[in-house]
Amino acid sequence: MPYNKNMYTTGYYKEPGPKLDEESPFESMMERFRFAADILELDEGMFQYLASPVKQVIVSIPVVMDSGDIQVFEGYRVIHDNVLGPSKGGIRYAPDVTIDEVKALAAWMTWKCAIVNVPFGGAKGGVRCNPKELSKGELERLTRRYTANMLEVFGPDRDIPAPDMNTDEQIMAWIMDTYSMNAHKTETAVVTGKPIILGGSQGRKEATGRGVVTVTLAALNKLRILPNKCTVSVQGFGNVGSISAKLMYEQGAKIIAISDITGGYYNKDGIDIPKAIEYTKNNNGTLEGFPNAEKITNDELLQMECDVLIPAAKEDQIGKHNAPKINARIISEGANGPVTANADSILEDKGIMVIPDILANAGGVTVSYFEWVQDRQGYFWTEERVNRRLNRMMRNAFDNLFEVSENHNITLRQAAYVFGIDKVASTLRMRGIYA
Ligand code: GLU
Repeated sequence: MPYNKNMYTTGYYKEPGPKLDEESPFESMMERFRFAADILELDEGMFQYLASPVKQVIVSIPVVMDSGDIQVFEGYRVIHDNVLGPSKGGIRYAPDVTIDEVKALAAWMTWKCAIVNVPFGGAKGGVRCNPKELSKGELERLTRRYTANMLEVFGPDRDIPAPDMNTDEQIMAWIMDTYSMNAHKTETAVVTGKPIILGGSQGRKEATGRGVVTVTLAALNKLRILPNKCTVSVQGFGNVGSISAKLMYEQGAKIIAISDITGGYYNKDGIDIPKAIEYTKNNNGTLEGFPNAEKITNDELLQMECDVLIPAAKEDQIGKHNAPKINARIISEGANGPVTANADSILEDKGIMVIPDILANAGGVTVSYFEWVQDRQGYFWTEERVNRRLNRMMRNAFDNLFEVSENHNITLRQAAYVFGIDKVASTLRMRGIYA
């Protein structure tokens, strides 16, 4: 069917309603997808194919709690697409995770893998639980039962999970062990982000933050701002936020604000990031009471005047309510979906360069790919080799998207969708539809 501007009105995912729901990450994803589909003149069938997840699995996870009572949790795995290869994506544990959110995150993984040129499709998983309220034993039983329920879904050639919000290398180790026990052999390549001792990769833990910094430096260069002359504000001090802050600090940038769940911390002369990281280690993992900094709110942090703002916490932090007040020159999205689709055009009008999540935080899945390759070869690389290849792939991805954005006169985010969707669509056309 030929392209026509008023299409995409039937089938699974229709046009958005009159008002875009800021709360729906999936709708935010679709809004950008529609824009790119327009530019690419995707036909209706291809649009429907790429908008629809291949598989959505919902499982109940019964866990015997330490008290002896049984509690049942809900778990999800959405495979958005496996055109480029086995599907890939993290698993998040959160009390408010929904299938809608997991669906959006799975689609983002598809475009992300295409952008950095790794041979994976996109997936995401989630378990609705509050990991802070679970003991280590409960967390282990929950993880093992979730994995057991997903044995038909996971597999080194099928679908490969990884860490995401509130999941770490210990959880990946339990997934690997549970899968291996059932396969009657050790299958290290079934999951990435594992401890190094279990077949994890050097540099995986730092990879997302390192990738954020590689593309941020590339963007600063385009705007002719020297890294050692720039100011940075970082939202979130977990794995991605703290490593991004540390590596920007090492580049000589002045990190004027950081934050975590306990609030924001500001110092106009710059925060000593290695000290802040050390502080959290001896302080229950939080910045609470961090000295030599003024306490600020989350909104103040986001609206701070700075060269680079790195939102590295969670989705929907910059929407149409606060986008007009953002005072950064570059936003580098360490988190997935921190800016809603409604805010895109406001930021564009303000001349803010947004490095979209599906590029900015793709360093994680890039080194996950390296981990998977190393596990399958049984030959492990040095950290230097991992970082060198990561930097090269992130830099190439940035340059590719920059070129697309210039050629079409569109933003980097729009370019990212155009590039990612075009790659998957072209591959699909070659593969054809199995009947
Ligand atoms: N959860 C990470 C992301 O959102 C990493 C996924 C992976 O390594 O597979 O990109």
